[in-house]
Amino acid sequence: MSDPADVRRALASWVGYLGDIGVRELDLRAAEPEPRVVPVAGLAAIRETIGDCRRCKLCEARTNIVFGVGDPHARLMFVGEGPGADEDARGEPFVGRAGQKLNEMIRSIGLQREQVYIANVVKCRPPGNRDPEPDEVATCSPFLFAQIEAIAPEVIVTLGSPATKTLLGTRAGITALRGKWGSFRGIPVMPTFHPAYLLRAYTVENRKLVFEDLKAARARLDEPR
Ligand code: SF4
Repeated sequence: MSDPADVRRALASWVGYLGDIGVRELDLRAAEPEPRVVPVAGLAAIRETIGDCRRCKLCEARTNIVFGVGDPHARLMFVGEGPGADEDARGEPFVGRAGQKLNEMIRSIGLQREQVYIANVVKCRPPGNRDPEPDEVATCSPFLFAQIEAIAPEVIVTLGSPATKTLLGTRAGITALRGKWGSFRGIPVMPTFHPAYLLRAYTVENRKLVFEDLKAARARLDEPR
């Protein structure tokens, strides 16, 4: 299915279907072979499909839909949980203090923000910066999955628990999962702490752990292909 119109119809149908059947928690990740329920689509087609989305209750208080930013052909992709206040105001992920910390993290492994792709599990800000709820994740995550398929990164770094749980289909927390490789539809996933957590708990130990995780991701990218 390469026609963007077909892609949009398939994606819209899938998202609508989730709502129709009242899906609250979705595990599209663990099964092998993994179903590629959302066909590969260009990022522009995915954004067009989202439109002025009102598919979940996070639409009610948002200012902007925060789609994603970066190189559409990035080899490394970062996934967080959802926009915060700064991101909601500007329509771009990771632009506040946590964004500055993420930029530092990216630079620590010799890359620039423009060389990676950054997106979130939900595209609208959860009120009070709470974690996205299962029904919100179930409704919005197919858009993230479509972005991942479109970008086809070689490595994904998940930032914090909600993003890690969404991609790895696990209920385990980030403390147990960080530093251990997982997989999303065959793409290696390295979970690490969210930069907002690093800002709250800026200890030598936490900085060291995150750097180790990022170095592992970089080493994976540097492996001969
Ligand atoms: S969070 Fe996602 S599904 Fe919910 S309204 Fe925003 S774009 Fe739509």
